[in-house]
Amino acid sequence: MASLQICSVTAEIAPFSKTGGLGDVAAALPSALTALGHRVVTVTPRYRDYPEAWDTGLRLRFPLFGTVHEVRLFHTRTAAHGDIVFVDHPAICRGGIYGNEHGAYGDNLFRFALLSRSAIEVARRFHPGGEAPLADWGPVRFLTHDWHAGLLPVYLRAHYQTHGLLRDATSVHVIHNLAHQGQAGMSSFGGLDLSGHWASTLEMGGALNCLKGALVSADRIVTVSPTYAREICTPAFGCGLDGILRMRRDVVSGILNGIDTTDWNPRVDRHLPENYGPEVFDEPEHQDTRGPGGGKAACKAALQSEMGLPVRGDIPVVGFVGRLTGQKGIDLLEQVGGWLGGSGAAQLIILGTGEHRYEQALAELSRRWRGRVVARLAFDNGLAHRITAGSDILVMPSRFEPCGLNQLYALAYGTVPVVHATGGLADTVPSFHPGSDSGLGWAFSPASVDTFRQALGFALQTWYHHPATFRRMAQRGMAPDRGWGPSAHAYARLLGG
Ligand code: ADP
Repeated sequence: MASLQICSVTAEIAPFSKTGGLGDVAAALPSALTALGHRVVTVTPRYRDYPEAWDTGLRLRFPLFGTVHEVRLFHTRTAAHGDIVFVDHPAICRGGIYGNEHGAYGDNLFRFALLSRSAIEVARRFHPGGEAPLADWGPVRFLTHDWHAGLLPVYLRAHYQTHGLLRDATSVHVIHNLAHQGQAGMSSFGGLDLSGHWASTLEMGGALNCLKGALVSADRIVTVSPTYAREICTPAFGCGLDGILRMRRDVVSGILNGIDTTDWNPRVDRHLPENYGPEVFDEPEHQDTRGPGGGKAACKAALQSEMGLPVRGDIPVVGFVGRLTGQKGIDLLEQVGGWLGGSGAAQLIILGTGEHRYEQALAELSRRWRGRVVARLAFDNGLAHRITAGSDILVMPSRFEPCGLNQLYALAYGTVPVVHATGGLADTVPSFHPGSDSGLGWAFSPASVDTFRQALGFALQTWYHHPATFRRMAQRGMAPDRGWGPSAHAYARLLGG
């Protein structure tokens, strides 16, 4: 395939900015596309000063919300990420990504409108490392992520293509989470510098909706797993946009996320006290040994010690890492965590931040079951790695899950996932089948306390009473290459088509 000119536009890119999976994907996908020989520039906000990025001297001006605003562009090129252009403006450079301790910023629509407008100009005018701008090499393929870049396909049509500019450019919009749509009062439309007849493109149920604008304006729509691509076309998962997605079904597809195998790889992970590979699950010399051996056993013991739990190899560790929101099934986790704490059949380690009510409930759970349940209410990347490595089982009772990365990390680390069979979880965790000794974990449905408890119960019973079966399953999960290779090819085919 001929080399493509790709402009990836995102609100997050790890390690510069990250609240969840978007940050990981927006970092890894451009690297994988670059490795395939495509030219990729990522455009993202400059939330704070990033010492490695330099002021390019290029200034852009946009009339938005009644004033002409000037943005500055900063640039860095790294081996891991390729070219990144950071969009700088006082409204953007405030420390937080979407908000602060008082909640979401009130001017997010403006902040991300600046991002979308800037990204198009970057593709036309920015010379990365002295080379020609993307648009000079050939048709630009905009890869826009979530609602934050959702205005870009609209601006591309309204400000450029209807005036004969960037006529051969195309846009592919990626839905990482349909629940976040960038809604605002319709009165904000007047601030967006679009002529009146674009209002209907952005209007949804009487409100302005950036994601809807992207869904009707983009050339193609992708989401992050095949099952989620089907689910979002139904009223149950469509978050009010299923009608539009059904109308555009021909251009909707699902491509499973890969993982960054340099960062999430137990053989080289620098956050772990010891590294390991699948050999830790080889048949042990003593048949009564249940858990893993070698480096993974060392990670488990170190994790128990770090979390203030009794260091014991004869009890399984169940881990959870993620945002504490309704989406992640935290109400189910809380109840099943209470059952686990009461039974003492496993140690439960929870890492997450999020809604106050869930933080309080989980803090209470760990107080109640001290020595059995620990909830660490923090965002701690190193600890996320150590929980993924040191746990025997990782739970994800998400009510919906577009792709989910933690179950992929768990599989790569020989940690058996117990998940709600939805979205990407259904696509990546085939449930254990005793007859054929197949499967990679336990997937339950529907999402309820009973089904979750039952699935976790099966996992624990298998750990205790059929350790060889459990070890084989964990080892199977580690076998496939879960890197970005195949998915990057799929994105390139879509962008090029
Ligand atoms: P989502 O994007 O919905 O938050 P994903 O499973 O796709 O869920 O990705 C979550 C990412 O964020 C993973 O890399 C996970 O390790 C990380 N993460 C979430 N919460 C925390 C936390 N409290 N500390 C460290 N990493 C976290």
